[in-house]
Amino acid sequence: MILPIVAYGHPVLKKKAVDIQPDEPGLQDLVRDMFETMHASTGVGLAGPQVNLSRRIFVVDASPFENEPEEVRTFRKAFMNAQIIESGGELINYNEGCLSFPGLHEDVVRPESIRIRYVDEHFQPHEETYDGILARIIQHEYDHIEGIVFVDRISRLKRALINGRLNDIIRGKVDADYRMLFASQKKKSRS
Ligand code: ZN
Repeated sequence: MILPIVAYGHPVLKKKAVDIQPDEPGLQDLVRDMFETMHASTGVGLAGPQVNLSRRIFVVDASPFENEPEEVRTFRKAFMNAQIIESGGELINYNEGCLSFPGLHEDVVRPESIRIRYVDEHFQPHEETYDGILARIIQHEYDHIEGIVFVDRISRLKRALINGRLNDIIRGKVDADYRMLFASQKKKSRS
């Protein structure tokens, strides 16, 4: 089932998400729905709060990065109850987008590599190190479960420059080719 994607301005995006419990009802359905929703909107990552669920879950599928090595192009994973336990390397500037901010792309500085602890959809524990584009996607999605969005990581000056566009997103004045949920809880039609 394809879920509506929460647009910037909805309070769920500002909330720190809580852990998923092993007996969380419908967990396998949720994981499947999140992959389906991400694919339908051609995203490379999607986090629980973006489908109006304040839980520590995100999914990643890096297959659209056609020029990356095979381990990136075939990367498809669900991360639950994740904790980034270490980050390092150089600080890298990279142009990011987000399904909750249709049409908006901004440079964001993040560390090159991370070490992350999480459980998969079968509650098996993992601890892994990522760098490159995977570290980038994972850090962006991890922010979502911490209640942080990518425009929180840009300078105040840059943020002031895009303020009008952010207000448009809050008001539902966006042209997304996927279904969205706005702060007003009303589904807005395209103008
Ligand atoms: Zn995002």
